[in-house]
Amino acid sequence: FLPQEIVRKKRDGGTLSAEEIQFFVRGIPDGSTTEGQIAALAMAVYFNDMNMDERVAFTLAMRDSGQVLDWKSLDLPGPVVDKHSTGGVGDVVSLMLGPMIAACGGLVPMISGRGLGHTGGTLDKFDSIPGYSTVPDPDKFRAVVKDVGVAIIGQTAQLAPADKRFYSIRDTTATVESVAMITGSILSKKLAAGLDALVMDVKVGSGAFMPTYEKSVELAESIVHVGNGAGTRTSAILTGMNESLCPAAGNAVEVRVAIDYLTGKSRPSRLHEVTMALCAEMLVISGIAASHEEAHARLQAALDSGEAAERFARMVTALGGPADLMDKPDAHLETAPVIVPVPSLQAGYATSVDTRGLGLAVVALGGGRVRPQDTIDFAVGLTGLVELGDSIAVGQPLAMVHARTSEAAEQAVRQVQAAYQIGAGKAAAEPMIYKTIR
Ligand code: URA
Repeated sequence: FLPQEIVRKKRDGGTLSAEEIQFFVRGIPDGSTTEGQIAALAMAVYFNDMNMDERVAFTLAMRDSGQVLDWKSLDLPGPVVDKHSTGGVGDVVSLMLGPMIAACGGLVPMISGRGLGHTGGTLDKFDSIPGYSTVPDPDKFRAVVKDVGVAIIGQTAQLAPADKRFYSIRDTTATVESVAMITGSILSKKLAAGLDALVMDVKVGSGAFMPTYEKSVELAESIVHVGNGAGTRTSAILTGMNESLCPAAGNAVEVRVAIDYLTGKSRPSRLHEVTMALCAEMLVISGIAASHEEAHARLQAALDSGEAAERFARMVTALGGPADLMDKPDAHLETAPVIVPVPSLQAGYATSVDTRGLGLAVVALGGGRVRPQDTIDFAVGLTGLVELGDSIAVGQPLAMVHARTSEAAEQAVRQVQAAYQIGAGKAAAEPMIYKTIR
């Protein structure tokens, strides 16, 4: 094969064989395929797409470009299962979901990502816990998964290295927005964790990665088809991202929400609904529970008994975090020096919110990155976010801003005010769970 002939075939609308795809992808991490050839193939795929067989071959080739974890030799007591989300604002689900699944008998080796654009990243949230190592050595990672049932860590350079180079070239050549390539990119990294089952959370709404409901459905169907085609039981749930999933957005502020959820101090209803739906689907498709009813009952019991909170605490200490984080979060999580309310400029009901705008306000406060090398301010963010449908008077807070400086706080106040639409009529509540695709 020649890379340029593969590009030509896709350019002309042809279907690539698995062998052609494997050959091309093999040349990505080792540098034998040039940046120009990779960019040209990405643009050809952007216009001419890949069918499902091509997507499966592409995903497997990218997965196999690096290390693929194998759990069989560890003789684990349950199925290896994970969840992945397309990203959102206030999406703290992974922090509770991993321990809840572990408490029900699943094993969750979750390799999570950093924030991207306006969305938060699970890894950044864990980095706000002092001492917690998001890059443990591989033996430690395996040991924590085996002993605690869950370990949430960051991606290593050995995992799907072809995707790393391919993604950075797509990012700079206007070729990210292709369902075929997004499918391969997401699944190659997730499947390299050696999963028996995967549930995908595809967000819908003003804070979602995919721009429309139809595109979210298309991505969900593609991931389910390709995941199953690649040998991992995969399903997807379309969930609402028309507002922040929990009342907070940021890093340390979201860790506090997760701790309060697990300890039972506070369980915000939309966050609870989405977390339970994703967990239940994981338990059912991995064979741990026979039905969604049974799954819900077991998950509720894991929360009520404190077992899920216990798993979270054990994971944190096993990976180097403080032993008393659950009892004394404020002794360990950073607090911002400036905390101010965002007064509403109008009276009425919160009718819509530009969720992406809220996420960008958190980034501007320093809670996210503008460039990959930027450092994050873990203390900053938003709390007490008003929910859609809430009534509000002039001067009442839409949220609290947690900032490093009063100038940054003032800017965030204006951004949050601009993000909310306050109207006279109470809009019908949008569903949190739109659809499950299996
Ligand atoms: N996230 C990924 O990991 N890959 C994509 O292509 C898009 C989003």
